[in-house]
Amino acid sequence: MDLEQRIEILSAGAKYDASCASSGSDRAGGHGANVASGICHTWAADGRCISLLKILMTNACVYDCAYCVNRSSADTPRAALTPDEIASLTFEFYRRNYIEGLFLSSGVVVSPDRTMELMLEAVRKLRQEKRFTGYIHMKVIPGASRELIDQAGLYADRVSVNIELPTSGSLALLAPGKTKEGILRPMSRLAEKISASRDERRTIKSSPAYAPAGQSTQLIVGATPETDLQIMRLSDALYKKMSLKRVYYSAFVPVSPDNRLPALLEPPLKREHRLYQADWLLRFYGFSVDELLNEKCPCLDLTFDPKTMWALNNLEKFPLEVNAADYSELLRVPGIGVVSAKKILRARRAGRLSLEDLGRLGVVMKRAVYFVTAGGKYNGLKRDSAEAIKVRLLEKKEPAAQQLPLFGTAAAQGEL
Ligand code: SF4
Repeated sequence: MDLEQRIEILSAGAKYDASCASSGSDRAGGHGANVASGICHTWAADGRCISLLKILMTNACVYDCAYCVNRSSADTPRAALTPDEIASLTFEFYRRNYIEGLFLSSGVVVSPDRTMELMLEAVRKLRQEKRFTGYIHMKVIPGASRELIDQAGLYADRVSVNIELPTSGSLALLAPGKTKEGILRPMSRLAEKISASRDERRTIKSSPAYAPAGQSTQLIVGATPETDLQIMRLSDALYKKMSLKRVYYSAFVPVSPDNRLPALLEPPLKREHRLYQADWLLRFYGFSVDELLNEKCPCLDLTFDPKTMWALNNLEKFPLEVNAADYSELLRVPGIGVVSAKKILRARRAGRLSLEDLGRLGVVMKRAVYFVTAGGKYNGLKRDSAEAIKVRLLEKKEPAAQQLPLFGTAAAQGEL
């Protein structure tokens, strides 16, 4: 099989991994043109969009995870690249300006250790022999030994171990080769190494950075019966205990019939979208999981976003006077995001704000109007109730659900 065919197979095999953004860019012609498959885009810490070669080292996997297109029992053409080929391909694409980095994952060849050895060989060659300084995101294979896991962050900017399913029971059902413990152990080790490296660099600036872009993971949503409450509790624990940079939620895409999997007509994209919004509220808006979900209501509302639902369930806290509220209170108003809350605080120094000023400061007034006063003036409904507000909000139709940019900045994700 020639190289181009193998790249096609291996980039198609990587496209379901949501811990890297859109795959399959198709820019044509001119300097920086790329091939149709295998290029995805991600965002750097400074908000810059960078293009990556997103590829598997091999799609021949000894495991048989029911939800995966590369599982051992799948009837699909198999291919592999050698470490030399991955290093050369990445470097040549980089030199031609097709890409700025590499996202490298793999099916499990022989064993987790053997797979990690080959992947490490590829990234080591890239860094040390080709002197490649671009971005590398490398998957860490659950079950690999500690010595090999430790090497990953020496070469990669970002590392990730995919948790895939939220509970041990679901892993046992759909991914019998994996255990929760086997996934959490490398995550915990990576967290230790990243934290130790940051501490060291505070005192010795020249010491090498270990996985400077941190670690992330991916959770598949809708393949198993876990609730949003279970998923958000898991994400919260991962952010707090493993210092994860991001949890990516990937709506389950049925790739083949299997009686262990739900018969979905379409991937639960709206649910995925709501989970991203709730995740954003945890990380940037000061919400806790228990404020958004509970045992009685364990699933996010699909009609209204989680912040609006929280506000509607806590109407006694509103309306809020925008000239007096502090930053954390402003962030809880539907239609006021991080950027507009900061603008409100800045603008207040120059004088009292009116409702008209809020729109100019980026507040989405069609949502905020029911929850704020400015100088005592209120433009919401006369006899506000959650149901009446819901009816009004529905009159202003929400845009259709779409997959969010996975490495987005606050601005890219939109104000909540
Ligand atoms: S380990 Fe499971 S999820 Fe990963 S490539 Fe193999 S079959 Fe797919």
